[in-house]
Amino acid sequence: MSDDTRPPVTVIGLGSMGRALAAAFLAAGHPTTVWNRSPHKAEDLVARGARPAATPAEAVAASELVVACVLDYPALYEVLAPCAGDLSGRVLVNLTSGSPEQAGEMAAWAAERGAEYLDGAIMITPPGIGNPESMIFYSGSRSAFTRHRRTLAALGDPLDIGAEPGLASLYDTALLGMMWSTLSAWLHGAALVGAEKVDATAFTPVAVRWLTAVAGFMTTYAPQVDEGRYPGDDATLDVQAAAIEHLVHAAEARGVDTALPELLRDQIRRAVDAGHGADSYAAVIRVLAGEGRR
Ligand code: NAP
Repeated sequence: MSDDTRPPVTVIGLGSMGRALAAAFLAAGHPTTVWNRSPHKAEDLVARGARPAATPAEAVAASELVVACVLDYPALYEVLAPCAGDLSGRVLVNLTSGSPEQAGEMAAWAAERGAEYLDGAIMITPPGIGNPESMIFYSGSRSAFTRHRRTLAALGDPLDIGAEPGLASLYDTALLGMMWSTLSAWLHGAALVGAEKVDATAFTPVAVRWLTAVAGFMTTYAPQVDEGRYPGDDATLDVQAAAIEHLVHAAEARGVDTALPELLRDQIRRAVDAGHGADSYAAVIRVLAGEGRR
């Protein structure tokens, strides 16, 4: 049942994610207009009160807030190009995944058509939509974010990442990189202990507990990165350069792949060679960001 005191919303794109977005707006009481290239995907939502639009133009005309979530940017241009003139005075919230550069180009494209633009990055799969704990990053028009924050909160926790349109996408990419690095490091650890017949389910509780400690190191090191000073009060890179040899050796001795520890050893060595042996692990930023860029 929709509550007409809630602002109307349009959702364009009803794939797995778009359907979850529209369902969350409906559940929060927003009059919700939906459009999808394959119209049958709207049926369940229409049964729950969504208004089906026959064309993208009709969908855009229905609400000031237009949320789009299709496969990729080329698909979104294809959908919006025929009704680009109808975007004037509206807010386009693009939750389609893409690069920061694509976000910047679409922000300019929307501005030329008189629309405000917010780029979003959804850090959860469709079942997490509607959960206030789920992070959704937004970057772009400040005034659009402020005006529509409450409506966007129906989808998850809306985090304001900044005015530069590509920032949400950049955060998304950076966090995915962290996810892959962390998962591969955990699997590497599981392979190491697995070589000694320890199950992953036995190893994982201590691995998860260790992640909490690692999160603490990150919080300690963040100001060091920002200030460009890395006091090695807790543990120096010289000490870690020696310790990582044990990881490379332990992997080699058990026939476990050594590419990941060798990569990390290389980064540590390069930082030490650049004169950061007495500094903390945070000094590796000088290698990763390019010496002299911070
Ligand atoms: P999906 O289930 O494959 O849905 C794709 C959607 O794009 C469908 O509505 C599809 O329409 C539409 N589409 C594709 N090509 C089109 C075209 N040329 N013209 C018009 N519509 C077109 O994918 P999804 O999981 O919903 O993902 C949608 C976006 O959300 C992607 O950018 C994805 O990276 C992002 N995302 C997804 C997740 C996730 O967990 N699923 C998480 C974060 C971000 P039809 O129904 O007609 O094919």
